[in-house]
Amino acid sequence: NSVILLKNRPSGKPSLKDFEFTEEESPQPKDGEILLKTKYVSVDPYLRGRMRDEESYIAPFEVGNPLESGIIAEVVESKNRNFEKGEFVNGMLQWKEYQTSNGNGLNKVDRKKAPLKAYLGILGLTGITAYLGLKKIGKPENGETLLVSGAAGAVGSIAGQIGKIIGCRVVGIAGSEEKIDRIRDKFGFDAAINYKTTQNMKMAIAEACPNGVDVYFDNVGGEILDAALANMNKYGRVVNCGAISLYNKSETPTGPRVETTLIKNSILMQGFTVRDFVKDFGPAQKQLADWMEEDKLTYLETTVEGFENIPKAFIDLFEGKNKGKMIVVV
Ligand code: NDP
Repeated sequence: NSVILLKNRPSGKPSLKDFEFTEEESPQPKDGEILLKTKYVSVDPYLRGRMRDEESYIAPFEVGNPLESGIIAEVVESKNRNFEKGEFVNGMLQWKEYQTSNGNGLNKVDRKKAPLKAYLGILGLTGITAYLGLKKIGKPENGETLLVSGAAGAVGSIAGQIGKIIGCRVVGIAGSEEKIDRIRDKFGFDAAINYKTTQNMKMAIAEACPNGVDVYFDNVGGEILDAALANMNKYGRVVNCGAISLYNKSETPTGPRVETTLIKNSILMQGFTVRDFVKDFGPAQKQLADWMEEDKLTYLETTVEGFENIPKAFIDLFEGKNKGKMIVVV
């Protein structure tokens, strides 16, 4: 049974050398347990944070232990009366081809309602993060301008589309020409900025948002956040969802350097982890599913084949190789 361990805590950008493949004996379920076969593995930027030896809202990974992430698995043997062979479950599981579980923390997923991978993306924590980050913090209204960074990624592409459903002018920021074309053509954003070829982000945002920015949904932090803050309107709201531009840095840069913009314009800036809103997951998932059924919401996935490619797929997030949700198909 193949297992992927954390070999070293990465310094800077993670590399394949930080991961180790090992083999263990095939796990056997005891009474009350199920045997799970890994099918789809979610790789996510926040896993980089868990590779640091730091206290956070979730415990760090231990060197020499298996990594874990959101996984869809098939029940291949059951000694637990709550699960039947052939069912599929979603949960925080280890990077192992097979593993046993007592079922705690696992949710059953129904492949008849949606493709299984969607439960890691649009109908999973990704979609729910975009929806609840906007609903609880950003609160965009019809006619307002919503700016989204990481806009071609999993969370950003959904946040932008939700803005369009609400009736906002939506502007996205992403890292290639192909991505900015795609967020306009496929996701219906009104305008898009390629931050990799733009010299002055503050000016570029001002041009793309002639009425200023009412809500900024931030997935990247750092300099792009600075540039966005300088463009916020009176009573603007900043949703601090992620800060991927900082995840590989060993020292946090100073910031935000916005002088008095936040004060003068009475800006609300709030971070969150989606688990803050766990009570709202059910209705959020239902709303996302309804919009999909009404063809108001769509999604992209980048799939990578093979258990052995999980670390590479994770590393590729920091190079922007994914469009939409990055998923490994085992
Ligand atoms: P994405 O699908 O957006 O993948 C990451 C993307 O980030 C890449 O494709 C890349 O796109 C962009 N990126 C990488 N490095 C940089 C950089 N240095 N500067 C700017 N952009 C960069 O990932 P997710 O949608 O899963 O996550 C997006 C953000 O949301 C992350 O920061 C994540 O941590 C956060 N998040 C927060 C949650 C919460 O509870 N608060 C829950 C889920 C996610 P490009 O080519 O455009 O550079």
